[in-house]
Amino acid sequence: MLEGTPLTLVGHDAVAVPTMLAVRTGRAAHAYLVSGPAHTGKSTLARLLAAAAVCLDDAAPCGRCSACHRVAQGVHPDVETLRPGGVCDSSDHDHSTDRSRDIRICQVRRVERLLSLSPYEGRCRVLIFDPADALNSQSADAFLKTLEEPPPRSLMMLVTAEPGLLSDTIRSRCRALTLSRVSEEAIRQVLIATGGIDADRAAVLARLAGGRAGWALTAARAPDFLTQRARRLDEAVTLARAGRVERLAAAERLAAVFTRNRDEVSATLSTWVDWWRDVLLMAAGVPAGMVNTDRQDEIEAAAGASRAAGAWRALVALRQARQDLESNVSPRLALDALMLGLPLLPRGVT
Ligand SMILES: [Zn+2]
Ligand SMILES: [Zn+2]
Repeated sequence: MLEGTPLTLVGHDAVAVPTMLAVRTGRAAHAYLVSGPAHTGKSTLARLLAAAAVCLDDAAPCGRCSACHRVAQGVHPDVETLRPGGVCDSSDHDHSTDRSRDIRICQVRRVERLLSLSPYEGRCRVLIFDPADALNSQSADAFLKTLEEPPPRSLMMLVTAEPGLLSDTIRSRCRALTLSRVSEEAIRQVLIATGGIDADRAAVLARLAGGRAGWALTAARAPDFLTQRARRLDEAVTLARAGRVERLAAAERLAAVFTRNRDEVSATLSTWVDWWRDVLLMAAGVPAGMVNTDRQDEIEAAAGASRAAGAWRALVALRQARQDLESNVSPRLALDALMLGLPLLPRGVT
């Protein structure tokens, strides 16, 4: 476990420790591609490396100094994080309200300008693209120039769960830092050490996390997390058995929730994805990778009824719905299509 309070990276020592040392001693690459599944610590690693680059302590990142704390809070003047909706130099642009899904070329131009200036207080300037796959083709082209001729005293990190969405040219100019899922035991221990929860709850969350420590830590901080999860899973089962009328009513309800609380709908859909993925794994005869092991009986029954093809169809429909909701398709339309795309399991099966 790598710590730079208040940031904690669970696992990944083989990747993180040598890179941290390289940054601390000025031997780092100019650019890193930090990739891996969602909630495994990619953004945390990027910020820890940023802290290592700007903390002035010998044991950077010390985790105690003002620089380390400001990196963790996202307010250090030498550490810029680019994400959709961020600032640029044009006074008439307001990307925080234009529902931008891309990192725009004007945002890239702004950081190019910043990189040409000396660091304010640290040893170097750090750029974090998070997620880097939000660079559109224009902004990626503009950024490529910087990547090819990196300014002195700069460190760039591209964070993404989808490295395949970046061009080969960009990927080939970054050193790869690939994070994988961490062990259930490592997550269980960190939950007990930092999550403030008892051993039983830690064991359940560690198992459900499927190797994603960030997911487990977030879940540990939400007291009613397990209750909400059970409610969403029950809904997945009910819908799989429901007819068209009930499904469309559910789509209407969910669309109404979406207009006031997008996160709730996104959490619901991701719970359903986990459930259907488990059904797929079970139907394919590889249940070892299942996440919802406490619902094994109902998943087994659903796998028998839907077969792998049905579970796959559900996952495709869920993926499409999530994409549609992100690209501002009418929520009702996206959710209607989802509900009609889910396979129908015979009642009494699950
Ligand atoms: Zn420090
Ligand atoms: Zn702009």
